[in-house]
Amino acid sequence: MTASPFDLTGKVAIITGGNGGIGLGMARGLARAGAAIAIVGRNEDKSKAAAAEIAQIGVRTLAIPIDVTDKAGVAKMVETTEAKFGRIDILINNAGINIRNPVHSLTLEDWGRVIDTNLTSAFLCAQAVYPAMKRQGHGKIINTGSMMSIFGAAYAPAYAASKGGIVQLTKSLAASWAVDNIQANAILPGWIDTDMTRKAREQVNALHENVLTRTPAKRWGHIDDLAGTAVFLSSSASDFVTGTAIPVDGGYSAQG
Ligand code: NDP
Repeated sequence: MTASPFDLTGKVAIITGGNGGIGLGMARGLARAGAAIAIVGRNEDKSKAAAAEIAQIGVRTLAIPIDVTDKAGVAKMVETTEAKFGRIDILINNAGINIRNPVHSLTLEDWGRVIDTNLTSAFLCAQAVYPAMKRQGHGKIINTGSMMSIFGAAYAPAYAASKGGIVQLTKSLAASWAVDNIQANAILPGWIDTDMTRKAREQVNALHENVLTRTPAKRWGHIDDLAGTAVFLSSSASDFVTGTAIPVDGGYSAQG
């Protein structure tokens, strides 16, 4: 029998921000498709718990407690993954934060924290996995964007800038490394129920109701809603797909 083009058996994936929320949803999907998973986050206990959950699916896992804004930490992430699993096939740049403040009151420090965590980290991690992917002759990079890759928000200028930037970085990675058989794509989640958006609901007036009204599917996304697209973009089914940004948003970006 021919293997499914979505089969990830024998593949190794690094998922930053994989210890909860959207990253954990994508980790579950990749693990169910057969990939070994390295969970990356600052909180070691949370990362170990996520790795233990994923191991129940029947794949090998690893928890790597590093900060993705730290170049030395990112180098350690690559070394640890290669030492344990011997290869890196998939990188999902998903770690992210938001600091909600309008432009007139956002500090330069907070601007930098958001840009470093959401955008510069993706550059650092992609650069760090490139030698392994090039050597292997293939690789998949998935970057997590947002509806704010498309739309702006008065309360989130740094976040929107970082998520717009991630789409352009994705296109540049795709153009640079297509020749090495490395595909880079972005996933743009709509409004997904996670710790990040639970906090947003406390900080942004009427957000919950507005999301339900504005989303054609009339619901918040669940973290497992991201799994299918993540598996597709990690698998040989997407070998001629690169530089794209795919919304997974219940139709949010489809209507004005
Ligand atoms: P969560 O807050 O649940 O997850 C954020 C993850 O990022 C955590 O695992 C966190 O782990 C990790 N992280 C944050 N900073 C760092 C850092 N410096 N180094 C390493 N890891 C870090 O939020 P979501 O799941 O909602 O968000 C995940 C991604 O999805 C983000 O990029 C976010 O912008 C994006 N997104 C979310 C949407 C939503 O509706 N929820 C919509 C669109 C995009 P730890 O704290 O242990 O470091």
